[in-house]
Amino acid sequence: MRQKPLAATTLLALLLLVGPVTAPPAGAQDAALLDFTTRIDAEAVMRHVRALAVDIGARPLGTEAEARAAAYIAEALESYGYAVEVQEFAVGVFGFVEPATSRNVISAKAGDDRTVVVGAHIDSAEVGAGAGDNASGVAAMLAAAEALADVELQHTVAFVGFGAEEEGSPSGADFYVTSLGPGIQDVIAMLNIDSVGVGTNMYVYAGAHATGGRPPEVHGGPTWVRDLALDLAAEMGLPFGTLPA
Ligand SMILES: [Zn+2]
Repeated sequence: MRQKPLAATTLLALLLLVGPVTAPPAGAQDAALLDFTTRIDAEAVMRHVRALAVDIGARPLGTEAEARAAAYIAEALESYGYAVEVQEFAVGVFGFVEPATSRNVISAKAGDDRTVVVGAHIDSAEVGAGAGDNASGVAAMLAAAEALADVELQHTVAFVGFGAEEEGSPSGADFYVTSLGPGIQDVIAMLNIDSVGVGTNMYVYAGAHATGGRPPEVHGGPTWVRDLALDLAAEMGLPFGTLPA
Protein backbone atom coordinates (compact mmCIF):
# COMPACT_ATOMS: atom_id res chain seq x y z
CA MET A 1 0.00 0.00 0.00
CA ARG A 2 3.00 2.23 -0.36
CA GLN A 3 1.95 3.90 -3.57
CA LYS A 4 -1.43 5.17 -2.45
CA PRO A 5 -0.39 7.02 0.71
CA LEU A 6 2.37 8.60 -1.35
CA ALA A 7 -0.02 9.70 -4.06
CA ALA A 8 -2.50 10.99 -1.51
CA THR A 9 0.18 12.87 0.39
CA THR A 10 1.57 14.42 -2.74
CA LEU A 11 -1.86 15.54 -3.84
CA LEU A 12 -2.66 16.93 -0.40
CA ALA A 13 0.58 18.86 -0.18
CA LEU A 14 0.11 20.27 -3.65
CA LEU A 15 -3.43 21.26 -2.89
CA LEU A 16 -2.23 23.20 0.14
CA LEU A 17 0.65 24.69 -1.77
CA VAL A 18 -1.58 25.96 -4.53
CA GLY A 19 -3.97 27.25 -1.92
CA PRO A 20 -7.69 27.17 -2.29
CA VAL A 21 -8.56 29.37 -5.21
CA THR A 22 -11.81 29.58 -7.04
CA ALA A 23 -10.32 28.69 -10.40
CA PRO A 24 -7.98 25.84 -11.32
CA PRO A 25 -4.33 26.89 -11.53
CA ALA A 26 -3.00 27.80 -14.93
CA GLY A 27 -0.95 24.97 -16.38
CA ALA A 28 2.08 27.17 -16.93
CA GLN A 29 2.83 27.78 -13.27
CA ASP A 30 3.08 24.13 -12.40
CA ALA A 31 6.70 23.34 -13.16
CA ALA A 32 7.61 24.56 -9.68
CA LEU A 33 4.75 22.59 -8.13
CA LEU A 34 5.81 19.36 -9.72
CA ASP A 35 9.32 19.74 -8.30
CA PHE A 36 7.63 19.84 -4.95
CA THR A 37 6.73 16.17 -5.21
CA THR A 38 10.37 15.34 -4.58
CA ARG A 39 9.93 16.62 -1.03
CA ILE A 40 7.77 13.66 -0.08
CA ASP A 41 9.42 10.39 0.76
CA ALA A 42 7.31 7.21 0.52
CA GLU A 43 9.34 5.53 3.23
CA ALA A 44 8.70 8.40 5.64
CA VAL A 45 4.97 8.10 5.02
CA MET A 46 5.08 4.37 5.68
CA ARG A 47 7.10 4.87 8.87
CA HIS A 48 4.16 6.82 10.30
CA VAL A 49 1.74 4.06 9.30
CA ARG A 50 3.93 1.44 10.99
CA ALA A 51 4.45 3.53 14.11
CA LEU A 52 0.69 3.98 14.55
CA ALA A 53 -0.69 0.64 13.36
CA VAL A 54 2.12 -1.77 14.23
CA ASP A 55 4.06 -0.27 17.14
CA ILE A 56 0.99 1.22 18.85
CA GLY A 57 -1.70 -0.92 17.22
CA ALA A 58 -5.48 -0.58 17.54
CA ARG A 59 -6.40 2.85 18.92
CA PRO A 60 -10.03 2.75 20.05
CA LEU A 61 -11.53 5.82 21.71
CA GLY A 62 -10.42 6.42 25.28
CA THR A 63 -7.63 3.85 25.30
CA GLU A 64 -4.01 4.29 26.27
CA ALA A 65 -3.19 3.51 22.63
CA GLU A 66 -5.27 6.44 21.37
CA ALA A 67 -3.40 8.69 23.81
CA ARG A 68 -0.04 7.32 22.66
CA ALA A 69 -0.97 7.91 19.04
CA ALA A 70 -1.91 11.51 19.86
CA ALA A 71 1.46 11.96 21.59
CA TYR A 72 3.22 10.50 18.52
CA ILE A 73 1.46 13.00 16.25
CA ALA A 74 2.22 15.92 18.57
CA GLU A 75 5.88 14.93 18.73
CA ALA A 76 6.12 14.60 14.96
CA LEU A 77 4.55 18.02 14.35
CA GLU A 78 6.83 19.61 16.95
CA SER A 79 9.85 18.02 15.31
CA TYR A 80 8.89 19.81 12.06
CA GLY A 81 8.84 23.11 13.95
CA TYR A 82 5.12 23.53 14.61
CA ALA A 83 3.68 24.70 17.92
CA VAL A 84 1.20 22.08 19.08
CA GLU A 85 -1.90 22.36 21.23
CA VAL A 86 -3.49 19.22 22.67
CA GLN A 87 -7.20 19.72 23.22
CA GLU A 88 -8.51 17.17 25.70
CA PHE A 89 -12.25 16.49 26.01
CA ALA A 90 -14.75 14.10 27.57
CA VAL A 91 -16.75 11.83 25.27
CA GLY A 92 -19.96 10.07 26.09
CA VAL A 93 -20.04 6.48 24.90
CA PHE A 94 -23.26 4.54 24.47
CA GLY A 95 -23.61 1.90 27.17
CA PHE A 96 -21.07 3.46 29.54
CA VAL A 97 -21.84 5.70 32.51
CA GLU A 98 -18.42 7.31 32.71
CA PRO A 99 -17.29 9.43 29.76
CA ALA A 100 -14.10 8.49 27.95
CA THR A 101 -11.23 10.94 27.54
CA SER A 102 -9.99 11.77 24.08
CA ARG A 103 -7.96 14.55 22.52
CA ASN A 104 -7.37 16.52 19.35
CA VAL A 105 -3.82 17.44 18.36
CA ILE A 106 -3.78 20.86 16.75
CA SER A 107 -1.06 22.81 15.02
CA ALA A 108 -1.18 25.69 12.60
CA LYS A 109 0.98 27.18 9.91
CA ALA A 110 0.34 30.90 9.79
CA GLY A 111 -0.89 32.53 6.61
CA ASP A 112 -3.59 35.12 6.10
CA ASP A 113 -6.79 35.35 8.15
CA ARG A 114 -8.52 32.57 6.26
CA THR A 115 -7.93 29.01 7.40
CA VAL A 116 -7.86 25.63 5.70
CA VAL A 117 -8.22 22.76 8.17
CA VAL A 118 -6.49 19.52 7.27
CA GLY A 119 -7.66 16.71 9.50
CA ALA A 120 -7.20 12.99 9.98
CA HIS A 121 -8.69 10.93 12.76
CA ILE A 122 -6.38 9.28 15.23
CA ASP A 123 -8.63 6.62 16.73
CA SER A 124 -9.46 3.31 15.12
CA ALA A 125 -12.27 0.77 15.37
CA GLU A 126 -12.05 -2.09 17.86
CA VAL A 127 -11.32 -4.62 15.13
CA GLY A 128 -7.98 -4.60 13.33
CA ALA A 129 -4.98 -2.34 13.78
CA GLY A 130 -6.36 0.67 11.89
CA ALA A 131 -3.54 0.78 9.34
CA GLY A 132 -5.75 1.97 6.48
CA ASP A 133 -8.40 3.59 8.68
CA ASN A 134 -6.80 5.79 9.61
CA ALA A 135 -3.04 5.52 10.18
CA SER A 136 -2.71 6.11 6.44
CA GLY A 137 -4.60 9.40 6.66
CA VAL A 138 -2.58 10.58 9.65
CA ALA A 139 0.62 9.61 7.84
CA ALA A 140 -0.40 11.63 4.79
CA MET A 141 -1.22 14.62 6.97
CA LEU A 142 2.07 14.43 8.85
CA ALA A 143 4.14 14.04 5.69
CA ALA A 144 2.38 17.01 4.11
CA ALA A 145 2.95 19.07 7.26
CA GLU A 146 6.64 18.17 7.16
CA ALA A 147 6.99 18.93 3.46
CA LEU A 148 5.28 22.30 3.85
CA ALA A 149 7.01 23.35 7.07
CA ASP A 150 9.33 25.82 5.34
CA VAL A 151 7.00 26.78 2.48
CA GLU A 152 5.08 30.02 2.52
CA LEU A 153 1.35 29.42 2.15
CA GLN A 154 -1.32 31.92 1.28
CA HIS A 155 -3.84 30.84 3.89
CA THR A 156 -3.38 29.67 7.45
CA VAL A 157 -3.39 25.88 7.52
CA ALA A 158 -4.44 24.02 10.65
CA PHE A 159 -3.25 20.41 10.83
CA VAL A 160 -5.51 18.53 13.23
CA GLY A 161 -5.38 14.94 14.43
CA PHE A 162 -8.90 14.23 15.66
CA GLY A 163 -9.83 11.89 18.49
CA ALA A 164 -13.14 10.08 18.82
CA GLU A 165 -14.18 9.72 15.19
CA GLU A 166 -15.32 6.10 15.24
CA GLU A 167 -17.71 6.40 18.18
CA GLY A 168 -18.84 8.61 21.04
CA SER A 169 -20.29 12.08 21.34
CA PRO A 170 -19.13 14.72 20.89
CA SER A 171 -16.69 13.60 18.21
CA GLY A 172 -13.29 15.26 18.19
CA ALA A 173 -14.37 17.18 15.10
CA ASP A 174 -17.53 18.42 16.83
CA PHE A 175 -15.51 19.50 19.85
CA TYR A 176 -12.98 21.31 17.67
CA VAL A 177 -15.66 23.20 15.74
CA THR A 178 -17.37 24.24 18.98
CA SER A 179 -14.03 25.40 20.38
CA LEU A 180 -13.54 27.71 17.38
CA GLY A 181 -16.67 29.68 18.26
CA PRO A 182 -17.22 32.54 15.80
CA GLY A 183 -13.74 31.72 14.38
CA ILE A 184 -15.44 29.02 12.32
CA GLN A 185 -16.32 31.84 9.90
CA ASP A 186 -12.63 32.06 8.95
CA VAL A 187 -12.46 28.40 7.91
CA ILE A 188 -12.88 28.28 4.15
CA ALA A 189 -12.24 24.58 3.62
CA MET A 190 -11.66 21.34 5.49
CA LEU A 191 -9.75 18.47 3.94
CA ASN A 192 -10.50 15.21 5.74
CA ILE A 193 -7.91 12.58 4.98
CA ASP A 194 -9.34 9.14 5.69
CA SER A 195 -8.41 5.64 4.55
CA VAL A 196 -6.05 6.71 1.80
CA GLY A 197 -3.97 3.54 1.96
CA VAL A 198 -6.52 0.87 1.08
CA GLY A 199 -9.07 0.04 -1.59
CA THR A 200 -8.95 -0.33 -5.34
CA ASN A 201 -9.46 3.28 -6.34
CA MET A 202 -8.50 6.71 -5.05
CA TYR A 203 -11.35 9.12 -4.51
CA VAL A 204 -11.81 12.73 -3.59
CA TYR A 205 -15.26 13.66 -2.31
CA ALA A 206 -16.86 16.97 -1.55
CA GLY A 207 -20.09 17.97 0.04
CA ALA A 208 -21.91 19.01 3.14
CA HIS A 209 -22.89 15.56 4.31
CA ALA A 210 -22.74 11.96 3.23
CA THR A 211 -25.29 9.21 3.65
CA GLY A 212 -24.43 5.57 4.18
CA GLY A 213 -23.74 3.10 1.45
CA ARG A 214 -20.74 2.20 -0.60
CA PRO A 215 -19.71 4.50 -2.10
CA PRO A 216 -21.35 7.11 0.13
CA GLU A 217 -23.77 9.52 -1.48
CA VAL A 218 -22.73 13.08 -0.86
CA HIS A 219 -25.27 15.87 -0.81
CA GLY A 220 -24.94 19.62 -0.93
CA GLY A 221 -22.09 21.94 -0.16
CA PRO A 222 -19.40 23.49 -2.34
CA THR A 223 -17.22 21.26 -4.49
CA TRP A 224 -14.42 23.59 -5.55
CA VAL A 225 -11.73 21.98 -3.37
CA ARG A 226 -12.54 18.58 -4.84
CA ASP A 227 -12.52 20.04 -8.33
CA LEU A 228 -9.14 21.66 -7.72
CA ALA A 229 -7.79 18.36 -6.36
CA LEU A 230 -9.05 16.50 -9.42
CA ASP A 231 -7.49 19.07 -11.75
CA LEU A 232 -4.13 18.79 -9.99
CA ALA A 233 -4.32 15.00 -9.94
CA ALA A 234 -5.05 14.92 -13.67
CA GLU A 235 -2.14 17.23 -14.35
CA MET A 236 0.17 14.95 -12.38
CA GLY A 237 -1.20 11.80 -13.96
CA LEU A 238 -2.49 10.50 -10.62
CA PRO A 239 -5.59 8.30 -11.04
CA PHE A 240 -7.98 10.06 -8.68
CA GLY A 241 -11.70 10.07 -9.28
CA THR A 242 -14.89 11.01 -7.51
CA LEU A 243 -18.32 9.48 -7.00
CA PRO A 244 -20.84 10.51 -8.02
CA ALA A 245 -18.76 11.44 -11.06
ZN1 LIG B 1 -11.93 6.60 9.19
